[in-house]
Amino acid sequence: ETSATLAEFDGNGTTADGHLVPLLANVGGAKDAVAAAGLGAQGVGLFRTEFCFLERDTEPSVDEQAAAYKAVFDAFPGKKVVLRTLDAGADKPLPFLTDATEPNPALGVRGYRTDFTTPGVLERQLEAIARAASESEADVWVMAPMISTAAEAGRFASLCAAAGIQTPGVMVEVPSAALTAATVLREVGFASLGTNDLTQYAMAADRQLGPLAELNTPWQPAVLRLVQLTVEGSAQEGNNKPVGVCGEAAADPALAVVLTGLGVTTLSMTARSLAAVGTVLKTVTLEQAQELARLALSAPSATEARDWVRAKLPVLEELG
Ligand code: PEP
Ligand code: MG
Repeated sequence: ETSATLAEFDGNGTTADGHLVPLLANVGGAKDAVAAAGLGAQGVGLFRTEFCFLERDTEPSVDEQAAAYKAVFDAFPGKKVVLRTLDAGADKPLPFLTDATEPNPALGVRGYRTDFTTPGVLERQLEAIARAASESEADVWVMAPMISTAAEAGRFASLCAAAGIQTPGVMVEVPSAALTAATVLREVGFASLGTNDLTQYAMAADRQLGPLAELNTPWQPAVLRLVQLTVEGSAQEGNNKPVGVCGEAAADPALAVVLTGLGVTTLSMTARSLAAVGTVLKTVTLEQAQELARLALSAPSATEARDWVRAKLPVLEELG
């Protein structure tokens, strides 16, 4: 049930000592974006553009795409909106981009990789994004899903530049990108950790399979270590580029504290979780969050990491 504590949340992500961690929303279209703005989101950290076109068996036109993107941008005038280029494949097939007969779709041509087999679609999407951004007030950032190498990040940045987009970034959701974050981030302006896929690929456990749920949690020490390596990679060579989280991990208030302690700069989540995450974040200082991050990293299992951290956050009891 909604407690008094939740009602007090003012929409701003900050620790008890004033360290800012903007709380952003994950959206799939304009309807979600309007709802998220109403729930106090400070912007959008993940706009899953493929959700706009799941029913389509042909590529949407540039005009049609630009209209769909602008409708989301318009819900956040003056605010940051991080748009992700089409993440087709695996759990989100798009008939005009993906091959339904692939034997291992999660390891197949998905996300950025569809540019290998269907060139042109990404360029046209970037053209639509640039047009929509120029007609809106939002601060539009653009990132590619399923980036595995620095070379891919570099090519994506070039395509963005050619389209007139100055804020290219990548999702870090493949372990290789986390392990090479320093070189990946040399190519682009920011990274956003997709902890759903990062967990799936680190643990070699299909994110949709119930029997593997114990393996498939971002509380796994291996996953937390990959988050830490990404942040450390960003700090190397004076990079210090923003590293956010946009996977479901950010919506778990205790884990949001740990991620903050690991050094992530923004948290993006389903809008209904914003108040709980913001409320819990306000009860710890940055130093306490860092201590909890060390505690979680030292745990021998996901269960212990979660239990140890939760035991140190009494506010969770009030939230129920
Ligand atoms: C993720 O993988 O964590 C993510 C945010 O993207 P999606 O869930 O859309 O794959
Ligand atoms: Mg993903």
